[in-house]
Amino acid sequence: MLLTRMLRRQRIAPVFDEPRTVESLDRNFESPKKATFPFSAIVGQDEMKLALVIAAIDPSLGGVLVFGDRGTGKSTAIRALAALLPKMHVIADCRYGCDPCSTSARCDECRAREQTGLLKTKLAPVPVVDLPLGVTEDRVVGALDLEMALTRGVKAFQPGLLARANRGFLYIDEVNLLEDHIVDLLLDVAASGENLVEREGLSVRHPARFVLVGTGNPEEGELRPQLLDRFGFSVEVKTPDDLQTRIEVVRRRDSFEQDPAAFMAKWESQDESLRHQITAARGRVSSVLIPDSIREQAARLCMALGTDGLRGELTLIRAARALASFEESNVVETKHLHHVAPATLRHRLRRNVLDESSSSVRVERAITELFSA
Ligand SMILES: [Zn+2]
Repeated sequence: MLLTRMLRRQRIAPVFDEPRTVESLDRNFESPKKATFPFSAIVGQDEMKLALVIAAIDPSLGGVLVFGDRGTGKSTAIRALAALLPKMHVIADCRYGCDPCSTSARCDECRAREQTGLLKTKLAPVPVVDLPLGVTEDRVVGALDLEMALTRGVKAFQPGLLARANRGFLYIDEVNLLEDHIVDLLLDVAASGENLVEREGLSVRHPARFVLVGTGNPEEGELRPQLLDRFGFSVEVKTPDDLQTRIEVVRRRDSFEQDPAAFMAKWESQDESLRHQITAARGRVSSVLIPDSIREQAARLCMALGTDGLRGELTLIRAARALASFEESNVVETKHLHHVAPATLRHRLRRNVLDESSSSVRVERAITELFSA
């Protein structure tokens, strides 16, 4: 863990005899054991966990931005959630993991397959793809397969990271340090749900729907408002500051690393019940009612906070609906709205020179002022 972090910090110029990319480093360090820390075993960090779960219930909400200290389990949480989610039905042999149930989100290759007969399907785990800093545009969107071109003289497309992330999570550690042109590209694709590559005589179109999970450290560079607004949630994680929590975090981590299989077995039933809960919530989310009174409360809250545009309000209402669904409620209630308000609104507030309180405090205060009669 410590070694991985040390290597990550040196990602720009890894100290190795032979040049290796950051990506291969990351993968090498994760691949020796495929074990994933169970989501249910993560101590605390409730706001982050809930935001990730809600984003998994309704992926159209946009991604999750996680601010906070290093080593607080951000990467662990996202990998744990992906491992917990039910496997996806994908079209067999599809390099983009196309959904057999969606005829609109199909790659060119699957459209061609469709013409020749029945599509075979298989189950695949929900992907988590790391987008390293310093990544090239080719690596992100895909490019001409040079090996095929040189050895066989065939113009073929080599899919990029967006292809691998389709229907899963795209994880960017320190998103605030990502180059602007890559950020713009990701925002475009995230908005359209499709990656269109037209270059080097290639014209390829494939679905690329993913939940963006970015981590940031506000001290290491500002995030552009345009980027912030695209994230459905922003959550803060902190190193736990009470003794018992710290002891428990370290105890579980140690126990997992000593014997991953036994540790995972111990938590499997809790992960299993959460899996069922998420699956059920996904199934009923679109039928959960949003009363007019809730829409009004959301509007009043956003007006009081002065959030730009209506994206915040829309996200707030939809996140509350996903939470209601998760809590097996058929109708959105005030408690759902208030619960998700800080995470859906705090990154959309304009800086107020007369009010130096943190964004979280401003949201909480507005809720209290408006709704505690
Ligand atoms: Zn396909």
